[in-house]
Amino acid sequence: MGLGNSSDDGNGGELLQAAQCLQAYLKHHGELGKPFEILTALADLTVERLGRGQEPRLTALNILVQVEGRDDRGKNPSSWISQSWGKLVEEKLPERETGLRQFAEQHGLSCYPWPAKEKSPGGAGNTSHYFLELRPLGPQPFVQIPPAPGDTQRIQYIQELTPKPAWWARWLLVGGYALAGWRLWLFLAYAGLVAVATAGVVILIWLIISYSPSTTPLRTLFMLIAAAGMALWLGWSALRPFVRALDWGITTAPNLLVAFSERSVQLEVHREQGTSRGGPKVLRLVRYASTCSICGGHVEVVDGKREFPDRLVGRCQECPAEHVYSFDRVTRSGRCLR
Ligand SMILES: [Zn+2]
Repeated sequence: MGLGNSSDDGNGGELLQAAQCLQAYLKHHGELGKPFEILTALADLTVERLGRGQEPRLTALNILVQVEGRDDRGKNPSSWISQSWGKLVEEKLPERETGLRQFAEQHGLSCYPWPAKEKSPGGAGNTSHYFLELRPLGPQPFVQIPPAPGDTQRIQYIQELTPKPAWWARWLLVGGYALAGWRLWLFLAYAGLVAVATAGVVILIWLIISYSPSTTPLRTLFMLIAAAGMALWLGWSALRPFVRALDWGITTAPNLLVAFSERSVQLEVHREQGTSRGGPKVLRLVRYASTCSICGGHVEVVDGKREFPDRLVGRCQECPAEHVYSFDRVTRSGRCLR
């Protein structure tokens, strides 16, 4: 898969750009924790070695020293790195691969960086090597015009990661929920059931109140309106995110669908690239994010609330009240709204 792993195979320039792109990606979209510390060390050491004209192939000890900031001989580098490396390449990065690709696209690259490991052939003195390989980006769905340097009015979003669904919805939502076949019927059945249950509750409340002997007509009417209003509100709350997602293409995901550890998640109606107009729509959980062009903070996509009704907006986490951007999910771009 790798197009080049060393500086002397003609791809050194491309690899340097990809490693610098990874540094920028980690600065804005990275996470705390050892797997990301290891990836940051890999990006930093790759840039450093390519700059010195050296081979950017690293040992576990090189990475340990870079992360810990000292030559910690008390630790076995191989066992220190192995668990976090597995978590990085098998769990953390796969859910961020689309975002990393889009970030590289926006930086004008034709490849994106991916951490790789070459296992030691075994024997004394042999050690495994860690490096960045280049993966081709392939054709882009549309041409993106990156903001000009210094343009504080525009930002580009990436699909930062694929959020985890709540445990109970995992079997339905992992890989997206195609609105076709039995899944479409299940979806319609859910909508019908919520509507019938809401109507049933309203009728039940009406019956209980109207047959209750000790109430005045005015009190009956007041209780009926309050209780029916509550039932209708609950019913609408259960259906609203789906109606909005189908209407507007994207909305804030209901908390019940999303794992506790996730935040700022959207529910999007997506159609796979290349499928015909009649192809099935897929409901999926996504998290879009960007980098604030004013202060470099992390921009999260949230509900526009009363100020920007019926739309999602990007709010900078450093200055959420002032650094506000529009959010266009098709072009993945935004404009300053202040
Ligand atoms: Zn900002």
